[in-house]
Amino acid sequence: MFEVDNQPPPLEPYNLFSSDASLRAAVKRERASWAEDGLQALGATLGKPETVKLGFDANKFSPQLRTFDRYGHRVDEVDFHPAWHELMAIALRAGLHSSPWAGPKPGAHVARAAGTYMLTQIESGVYCPIAMTYGSVPTLRQAPDVAKAWLPKIFAREYDRRFMPVAGKTAALIGMGMTENQGGSDLRTNTTRAEPAGDGTFRLHGHKWFMSAPMCDAFLVLAQSPKGLSCFFMPRWTPDGARNAVHINRLKDKLGNKSNASSEVEFHGAYALLVGEEGRGIPTIIEMGNYTRLDCCIGSSGLMRQAVAQAIHHARHRTAFQKKLIDQPLMENVLADLALESEAAAALTFRLARAYDEEDEIALVIRRVATPAAKFWICKRAPALAYEAMEVLGGSGYIEESIMPRLYREAPVNSIWEGSGNVMCLDVLRAIARTPNAGAVLHGEIDTGDTRLKSFAGKLLERLAGPERNDEAQARALTRDLVLALQAALLIKHAPPAVADAFCASRLGGDTSAFGLLPRGLDLRAIVERAAPQ
Ligand SMILES: Cc1cc2nc3c(=O)[nH]c(=O)nc-3n(C[C@H](O)[C@H](O)[C@H](O)COP(=O)(O)OP(=O)(O)OC[C@H]3O[C@@H](n4cnc5c(N)ncnc54)[C@H](O)[C@@H]3O)c2cc1C
Repeated sequence: MFEVDNQPPPLEPYNLFSSDASLRAAVKRERASWAEDGLQALGATLGKPETVKLGFDANKFSPQLRTFDRYGHRVDEVDFHPAWHELMAIALRAGLHSSPWAGPKPGAHVARAAGTYMLTQIESGVYCPIAMTYGSVPTLRQAPDVAKAWLPKIFAREYDRRFMPVAGKTAALIGMGMTENQGGSDLRTNTTRAEPAGDGTFRLHGHKWFMSAPMCDAFLVLAQSPKGLSCFFMPRWTPDGARNAVHINRLKDKLGNKSNASSEVEFHGAYALLVGEEGRGIPTIIEMGNYTRLDCCIGSSGLMRQAVAQAIHHARHRTAFQKKLIDQPLMENVLADLALESEAAAALTFRLARAYDEEDEIALVIRRVATPAAKFWICKRAPALAYEAMEVLGGSGYIEESIMPRLYREAPVNSIWEGSGNVMCLDVLRAIARTPNAGAVLHGEIDTGDTRLKSFAGKLLERLAGPERNDEAQARALTRDLVLALQAALLIKHAPPAVADAFCASRLGGDTSAFGLLPRGLDLRAIVERAAPQ
C-alpha cells in the first residue's frame, strides 16, 4: 500500500465570511455592517463538510422530469435530490431570495449580495430560482393584486418543496420565461400568444425554449397580447386548484449548472394575469432583468472567490521541488494575479449592489450603466480564472472531487443567460447615450486623482464622450475599459496598496493574455496572503 503524503487537507470546515478579508471589507464599506453576525453564521453553515457534500450530491444526482403519472395523466413535475432541497432551505432561511424587499434598509441589497456570494461558492444551481425570485419583486409590484396575494409568501423564509397551490404553502418561488426557440436576445420575436379570456385574465398559447427552475410556483412570462408584447404572471396552479396548462417537454442536458433544471415548455391555454401596461412587456420585465444581471455579477465573483480560495489553500500545503508551491516565485505570480481578478470583481460587484440600496442620481446611473458593463466583464473573466485556478491543483484539479471541474463548467453560464456578452455591451452604449449625466457620474467614480489611473481614465472619459460611444463594433473594448477603470478606482480607494499597485500595473496597459504575467517590483506575497482563506 502506498502512503498518502504531501496532500493538502480539505478546505473544510471553514467560514466563508470570516476567512474572506475582501468580502468583510466590502460589507463594511458598502454599509451593511449590521448584517455581519448573520453573514458569519451563514458562512459557517456553508463551510461545514456536510453542506459542502450537499453541493456535490445536488450536482451528481441531477433533476429528473416526470411528465405523466402511472395512469397517463400529465403531471409535469421535476424531482430533485434531497440535497437540492436542503440547500434551498438554507438559502431561504437566510432570506437570500427576498430579504431586501421584506425588510428594506440601508445596506439590505449589499447584505443579501454577500450571502449569495457565499452560497454560490458551495452550490450555484440553487442560485437560479433564488435570483429569479429576488429579481421578480419590483415587476410583480406592477400588478398590485398579484403582489398583495403573493408577496407574503415570497418574503417567507420556510422553504416548502411541495408542488401544490400556493395558498397551502409556507413560501413561494418565482421563475421567468422569455427566451423562445427563434430568439432570446431579440425578444420582440416572441410568438407566444396571450388571449383575453373575457374576465380580465388571459390564456397563453405557445412555447419557451428555456425556462429554468420549472418547479417555481409562478413565472413572469412574455407573450403577444392584442396590444403587443406584454408581461404576464403565470402560476403553476390555477385559482380553482388545477394544474395550469404548462407542459414540460424536456429538461436541457447542460454543460454545467447540473443541479438546476432548465426546461423547454409549451403553454396550452395556460391561465395568466397581466403585469404592468399591456404592450409594454419588455420594459416591465427588464426591471427583473437588472436584478438578475446583478446576480450574475455576484455569482461569477463568488465562483472566482471559491476557485482562488481552493488554489491558494492547495498551494500552501503542497510541496514541489523542496518548497511549498506558494513559495515558488512563478506560482506566487499566478496566485497573486488570480487574487487580483477576484478582488476586483468583488469590489465592483458590491459597489454595484450598494447602488441598488440607494435612490440618488449617482446610484441610478451606476445601476443603469455599470450593471450590464460589470456583467459583461466579470462573467467573461470567470471561465479563464476557473481554468487557471484548476491548474494550480495539478492533476487533482481536473478530478471532480476537487470541486474545480464544477466551478469550471458553471463559469460560462452567467455570461450567456440574462443577456449574452455582446448584448450587454450594446446595452452599455444605449445606457450611456440615454442616461442623463452618465458621463459626469462615471467621471466622479473613476477620477480618483491618483496618477496610476489618471491617463487611462482621461482617455476613457474622452472615448465615452466621442464617436466610440456609438460604435457597436468597439463596444466590447469600451465596456472592458470602463470596468477596468471602475475596478482600479475602487481598489485605489479601498484595497491595500499592494493590490491597487498590481491591478493598475497589469490591467491598465499590462499584458493580461494569461494569468501569471504580473511585472516585476510588486508585492505579490502581500496580495496572496490577503486572499488566502484565513
Ligand atoms: C442554462 C440556461 C438557463 C436559462 N434559463 C432561462 C430562463 O429561465 N428563462 C429565459 O427566459 N431564458 C433562459 N435562458 C436563455 C438565455 O437567456 C438566452 O439563451 C440568452 O438570452 C441568449 O439568447 P439566445 O440563446 O436566443 O441567443 P441569440 O439571441 O441567438 O444570440 C446568440 C449570440 O448572438 C449575440 N447577439 C445577439 N444580438 C446581437 C447583436 N445585435 N450584435 C452582436 N451580437 C449579437 C448574443 O450576444 C449571443 O452571443 C437560459 C439559458 C441557459 C444557457
